[in-house]
Amino acid sequence: MRYLSLGHTDAVAASCHWVELAGTGLVLDAGMDPEEDGPAALPPFHLLDARAVDHVVVTHAHHDHLGALPVLMRRVPHARVHMSKPTALLADVLLPSSAKLQLRRMREGSTTAEPVFDMDTVEALSYLYEAHNLDTDLDLSGLKATAPLTARFYHAGHVLGAVGVYLEAEEEGPDGPRRRRVFYTSDTSLRPQAIQPGGDYPAPPLDVLLLETTLGADPEAELTTRKAEEKAFGEALARVLARGGSALIPVFALGRAQETLALIDRFKRRRVIPEETPVYTAGQLRGIAGIYDKTRFMSPRLDPEFEVAEVEQQHIPRTQTRLDDALREPALFVVSSGMLFERTLSNQLAQRLVGHEKHGVFFVGFAKEDSPGGRLLEAAARGPGTEVVLDAQAGPQKVFAEVVRFRFSGHAHRRDLIQLVEMMKPRKVVLVHGEAAAKTWIKDNVEFFYPDTTVLIPEQGVEVEL
Ligand SMILES: [Zn+2]
Repeated sequence: MRYLSLGHTDAVAASCHWVELAGTGLVLDAGMDPEEDGPAALPPFHLLDARAVDHVVVTHAHHDHLGALPVLMRRVPHARVHMSKPTALLADVLLPSSAKLQLRRMREGSTTAEPVFDMDTVEALSYLYEAHNLDTDLDLSGLKATAPLTARFYHAGHVLGAVGVYLEAEEEGPDGPRRRRVFYTSDTSLRPQAIQPGGDYPAPPLDVLLLETTLGADPEAELTTRKAEEKAFGEALARVLARGGSALIPVFALGRAQETLALIDRFKRRRVIPEETPVYTAGQLRGIAGIYDKTRFMSPRLDPEFEVAEVEQQHIPRTQTRLDDALREPALFVVSSGMLFERTLSNQLAQRLVGHEKHGVFFVGFAKEDSPGGRLLEAAARGPGTEVVLDAQAGPQKVFAEVVRFRFSGHAHRRDLIQLVEMMKPRKVVLVHGEAAAKTWIKDNVEFFYPDTTVLIPEQGVEVEL
């Protein structure tokens, strides 16, 4: 088996891997780097020129796993493209909106990079996706396969439609033919969230485990329990509403947004917060919520009866006067972007709220240090009245609002990542999708607890034999 990392190997950026197993070439994920624009955001697809690509598998619809698919498909038009059914539905919404956003960013001057694909391309491509159920054997043998290659999707727990990919084939080894059993976790969560149950994994032993390491350098994540975070989050919302303030909850449109709405619904039903509290949402996260609801009987759910659309929501007011009216009453605003990126709704609302101590800004996901969200968290930690720049044009403003980060991750924390190694007992672990410090921590711990397991930290563009 040969393996090549096409994505950045020292950060949580674009995910993209090439694997050759028993003569069949596969690309696992085709992500785009969310911090870059244009060609710089793409994986180095030219490295595929001399390699076979029979199939492309997209594990879930996050931009850093799906975003570059249209570009990849132009390069390997003969390859078949596979994903779960919910991911295919999400791709039909997210790729066109990515095309629109790229064009808009170039036109408004926020980037000089040309869009890497347009609307026409993504519309044409969507007919080519092959959508599959979980737990079904798929024959992915390629043109030059030396033996049949079987794949199987496992529920990954991370966001709607997310799967881990299991591959199995017989390969010639130094001591004759042997069965190779490979699993790519992609982004995964062992534990349930508010909507999504925890992930499922293949039975041991495995040959090779491609393991995500997003939270590998985050000691705090393993110390918090979901139950305690949920309670603290509910109490924080209740506190803000009780003093007549409003709470902004910046979210990622796919996953965190729907999970947060499910939590708010729970808080209302349990009278943690007043049932009549208005909840404002907007744009894409509503469309995505519709796909959550539509697929609730075909993909794993904690409660298939629950519908995100049943959580009463109002469209966020479009005009300043109507927004002023909305802010006069205590309310909750669940809007993207999750990191308060400039020129997004959450950023504009944060600018309105941070100056007043009655309001709250509550993060329910990760905010990078150099993002406006990260800067706001840092300023708030220094005490009331500390200045923050949320928008370069608006300039610095003082922070008096309550600003807290809650930990509701859709990723396995680092003890759980070790637990995955324990569960699947791989002979080799390949660490992907995480910062260098995260990978080092996982490598040290796996090598300490499982001395028979080999741990590899691949470099981008350097092929390894597994
Ligand atoms: Zn993800």
